[in-house]
Amino acid sequence: MEFDVMIIGGGLAGLTAGLALQEKGKRTAIVSAGQNALHFSSGAFGLLDREDPFGAVAELDEDHPYARIGADSLRTFAEKAKGLFARAGIELNGNPLGNGFRLTPQGALKRAWLTLPEVDLFPDEAAVKGHKVLIVNLLGYLDFNTSFLALGLEKKGCTCRVETLRLPEMERLRQNPSEMRSVNIARVMDNAWVKVAGEVKSLLKDEDWVILPQVFGLRDATVPSQIRETVPARVLFVGTMPPSVPGMRTQMQLKRAYEALGGTFLMGDEVLSAETGEARVRSVETRNIGRIGAKDFILATGSYFSKGIASDMNHVYEPLFAADVIQDEGRGSWYDPNFFNPQSFLSYGVATTPGFKVLKEGVPFENLYAAGSVLGGCRSLALGCGAGVALVTALSVAETI
Ligand SMILES: Cc1cc2nc3c(=O)[nH]c(=O)nc-3n(C[C@H](O)[C@H](O)[C@H](O)COP(=O)(O)OP(=O)(O)OC[C@H]3O[C@@H](n4cnc5c(N)ncnc54)[C@H](O)[C@@H]3O)c2cc1C
Repeated sequence: MEFDVMIIGGGLAGLTAGLALQEKGKRTAIVSAGQNALHFSSGAFGLLDREDPFGAVAELDEDHPYARIGADSLRTFAEKAKGLFARAGIELNGNPLGNGFRLTPQGALKRAWLTLPEVDLFPDEAAVKGHKVLIVNLLGYLDFNTSFLALGLEKKGCTCRVETLRLPEMERLRQNPSEMRSVNIARVMDNAWVKVAGEVKSLLKDEDWVILPQVFGLRDATVPSQIRETVPARVLFVGTMPPSVPGMRTQMQLKRAYEALGGTFLMGDEVLSAETGEARVRSVETRNIGRIGAKDFILATGSYFSKGIASDMNHVYEPLFAADVIQDEGRGSWYDPNFFNPQSFLSYGVATTPGFKVLKEGVPFENLYAAGSVLGGCRSLALGCGAGVALVTALSVAETI
C-alpha cells in the first residue's frame, strides 16, 4: 500500500491533519491503535488558559509548540480549526480568537476556547450568577455528582433544586451498577430522550436553568438541541465521569468526515515499527496490513496516555522511531514528590525543528513530522492548551506538507 501521507494516530491531531490534507487532495491513511484523549474529553477545547492567549505566547518556554509557531500563525490556525470542524459537520461554540468559560461538574467556571455544541460557553462570571437551577439526574447514575454541582453553583449565588428521574428503560442497566456508565446510558437515551425531555418539562417550576448530564446524542448530534427546544428554560449539559459522550461522538463524526473525503482510516491497527534510512522514513509496518509506504509521515501518537511516549526506569522515550525526547536527566528530576506541584515529566515529548520535523540524534527526518500531545514542551495540563496544541500543530504540519 502506498499513500501520499501516512498518519500514525487517530486522535484529535491525527484526524485534524487527515481532514486538512484530504481537503487539499492528498491521498492519506490514518492508523489508529485504539481509544484516544477525545474519549475522555470535557467537551471543551483549551487553547491557553490565559485571558489573552495570543499575547501570552511570548511568555511561554521556547520548547512550547506555540513558541515555535508564533502568535500570528497561532491566530491563523486557531481560526482555521473552527472552519475545518464546521465543514466536518461540527459547529463548535466560541470565538476562535479568544477564551470564554465553561461550567465544570463541580459547579465552577474554567477557561475554555471552543466547545462541542452541547457545552455552553459563558463570557464571564456574572453570566452564571443568581439563576434558579433545576439539576436533573437519572436514578442510580453515580458518575454525575449533583451535590458538588449544586454546592458550586450556590457559591455563585444560584438557587438549586435536585430531582432524579426513574426511567423503566434503564431498569436493566440499574440491576448491575457497573453498567451504569455514561456510554451505556447514552445508548438507552438515544431512544428515550423524548420521554426525558417531557419529564424534565413537567418537573420545572420557576427555574430558568435546567442542568442534565452529558449522556445525550451519542448517535445523533442533534438530540441535545432538540431537548433544548422542548424544555422552556435554558438547558445546560454538564460533564460526567469518562467516557465522554460528546467526545466519542465527535471522534466518530471526524472519522466519518475524513472517510467521506476519501481518507483511509485503519481502525484498531497499530504501527509496530518503521523502516528508515538517510534521514527519511520509507515505510511503516502495521500489525494487520504489513508494510505501508508514503512520501510523508505524521507522528500523532499522543503522550503517555496513548503510549506515544513511554518510559523505563531511567529514560523517557518515543517507541517507534527512537526520536529525541525533551527531558531532564535522571529520574529524580522527573517529578516533584509533592503531588500538587508542577510535574516536569508532563512536559516531556518529542523534539522537533521549528517546523515540527522530528529530530533523531539532533538530525531532522526530512519527511517525518510530529503533531499533538506527542510533542515536547506542551505542559498541557498546567497551561490548559491540550486540544489547542493538537489542532494547531496538525494544521501547521498539514500546511507544510
Ligand atoms: C484523559 C485526557 C483527557 C483530556 N481532556 C482534554 C480536554 O477536555 N480538553 C483539552 O483541551 N485537552 C484535553 N486533553 C489533552 C489532550 O492531550 C488533547 O486534547 C488532545 O485530544 C490530544 O490529541 P492527540 O491526537 O495528540 O493524542 P491522543 O488523543 O492521545 O491520540 C493518539 C492516538 O494515537 C494512537 N497511537 C499511539 N501509538 C500508536 C501506534 N503505534 N500505531 C497506531 N496508533 C497509535 C493512540 O491509540 C491514540 O488513538 C486530555 C488529555 C487526556 C490524556
